[in-house]
Amino acid sequence: MSTPLPLLPGTLIDGRPATLGVLGGGQLGRMFVHAAQALGYETAVLDPDAASPAGRVSQHFIRADYRDGDALDRLAACAHAVTTEFENVPADSLASLSARRPVSPAADAVAIAQDRGAEKAHFARCAPASGVAPAPYAVITSEAELAAVPAALLPGILKTARLGYDGKGQARVATPAELATAWQAMGRVPCVLEQLLPLALECSVIVARGRDGQAVTLPVQRNLHRDGILAVTEVYEQNLPPALASQAQAATIDIANQLGYVGVLCVEYFVLQDGTLVVNEMAPRPHNSGHYSIDACDVSQFDLQVRALAGLPLVAPRQHSAAIMLNLLGDLWFDGQGAPRTPPWADVLALPGAHLHLYGKTEARRGRKMGHLTLTAPGADAARAVALRAAALLGIEAF
Ligand code: ATP
Ligand code: MG
Repeated sequence: MSTPLPLLPGTLIDGRPATLGVLGGGQLGRMFVHAAQALGYETAVLDPDAASPAGRVSQHFIRADYRDGDALDRLAACAHAVTTEFENVPADSLASLSARRPVSPAADAVAIAQDRGAEKAHFARCAPASGVAPAPYAVITSEAELAAVPAALLPGILKTARLGYDGKGQARVATPAELATAWQAMGRVPCVLEQLLPLALECSVIVARGRDGQAVTLPVQRNLHRDGILAVTEVYEQNLPPALASQAQAATIDIANQLGYVGVLCVEYFVLQDGTLVVNEMAPRPHNSGHYSIDACDVSQFDLQVRALAGLPLVAPRQHSAAIMLNLLGDLWFDGQGAPRTPPWADVLALPGAHLHLYGKTEARRGRKMGHLTLTAPGADAARAVALRAAALLGIEAF
């Protein structure tokens, strides 16, 4: 069942159309499927949810748990190469698939990104070369490590080592007593305590790296989070001081190189009030902050994921429009009284440069990512003006 690389789109392999597989059927998987199908591949999605956003648009859909050995066999039989759309896919499942098919990213890189302790240790290893360090931190897995936490880390943020996302699994703590209580409340699972830093802003960089080590990045994204969830991404010239942007791009390539990474990787950064760049975390997949690339760049993060997986050339993306992305959370599907509503799409789509992406989720819930809206324009001022108009129409707070 070996696959010849590059896996060329539109070809027949062992009598079947070239097919790309993805573990996970959420919105990231859906946009991967769209990119793969546009190039001429067939796609296969594995997800436990019968109504998954990606499963509903893929030619092949395997409804199963990510650990189901029989389902993984079926995926390997159907797809000629396999990627993942979320970092909590069991690393063992990726490893078992990679015995049969090209898999990117590799299980060991995903395993590092799954664990905040291992992730921070990797960043710390890269820091001498990249010049960008993580926040001061300590790993807490035992009573002894809890007692040994340096006072300088407080006030800090306690984060579970695994399975945190969108600010979940985090607690701000100011004193050793609060730290002990918070760790208790988290069930004494392995955690990382990070010093609370004075942030000026947040940004992220998406890199795609091929099997040959070639790496290309998207422009640096400037991100605004609300309640721990990405709310707005702004990408245009001078969205960040240029020296910082270059430093973040170089550090991201270094982090990918040092992992021997293949595929699309997103690294999130803080810019402190004194201008220092600090590396926060990474996602071994396309990222919410990169969605603008579908409409504002000639190659999107999902196109890059497809190319890296299939062993096709990676070309440096060129951003052709200034862009602002607004996340569309389920909250927008309720009016001020809490009654269900449909957001005013016709008004939004009347705006120039409005690109609406809905993920096909049937049930709107508060905080649930239902879609995103990218506003493109020739320059930053026009993009901001139209994005603020869209935000006002939708009831999203101005930024
Ligand atoms: P994601 O959904 O991006 O995976 P997450 O839940 O894994 O998020 P982080 O990105 O670590 O969590 O933190 C969420 C947000 O909390 C950050 O975007 C930032 O606004 C704030 N934050 C996290 N760590 C720190 C810190 N050390 N100092 C100050 N603010 C922080
Ligand atoms: Mg984050």
